[in-house]
Amino acid sequence: PAQPRERLRVAIQKSGRLGDPARELLASCGLTWRESRDRLFCYGESLPVDLLLVRDDDIPGLIADGVCDLGIVGRNVLVEHGLAREAQGRGVELTEWRQLGWGTCRLDIAIDEEQEWTGPEQLAGLRIATSYPHTLGRWLAEQGVQAEPVVLNGSVEIAPRLGQADVVCDLVSTGGTLRANQLTPVTTILHSEAVIAGPGHQLDDGRQEIADLLLRRLDGAVQLKE
Ligand code: ATP
Ligand code: ZN
Repeated sequence: PAQPRERLRVAIQKSGRLGDPARELLASCGLTWRESRDRLFCYGESLPVDLLLVRDDDIPGLIADGVCDLGIVGRNVLVEHGLAREAQGRGVELTEWRQLGWGTCRLDIAIDEEQEWTGPEQLAGLRIATSYPHTLGRWLAEQGVQAEPVVLNGSVEIAPRLGQADVVCDLVSTGGTLRANQLTPVTTILHSEAVIAGPGHQLDDGRQEIADLLLRRLDGAVQLKE
């Protein structure tokens, strides 16, 4: 059992696409911090809200394990984590507390640009390179199509050129990376954006009250931007 805590701990991406916008959002809620020397931890000064700076892939697990209370992460990462957890027979314990409207992207199927797209049935028996095997697997099952996921943790879009896969299922925002690899997006399997992830239940100790205060300010900050 976790020790009682009277401070809220929020996990955000250390670097990458969501790190700076997440910090800016929290700063716009009036938060100020003192950063640890190793840049892993930010101690909240104006509010009892501390930040843990981590890889985005670790954020759902940190919340599920109760190490952090909330996180700012892409829906794509949260959904994949939830489905992986479900596949292991463990309950889904995380939900989206807020959607933030930035960090938007799509998880798309993309095929050789020379090829014609006739529909999901076309994928039957093909090797599909992806970093999101569970999200892809759910979609394939919904389509009633059997294909072979090839799980890669990076450089998914070069897999067809390397002969590792026939098509890809990858994150797309502008499509530039796909185009550079002679691929074209043909169908979207998930619409993503940055979200506030949290447990499926209220927080313990005094932390829910701190979270409520933070979310109220956050809602105000998000509205101001709109
Ligand atoms: P980390 O080092 O934290 O593991 P990463 O390389 O996995 O970083 P980033 O490339 O920084 O992750 O992307 C973080 C998130 O940004 C993605 O999970 C996704 O939600 C969002 N995103 C928005 N646009 C794109 C895009 N074009 N490609 C990839 N991710 C995007
Ligand atoms: Zn990552």
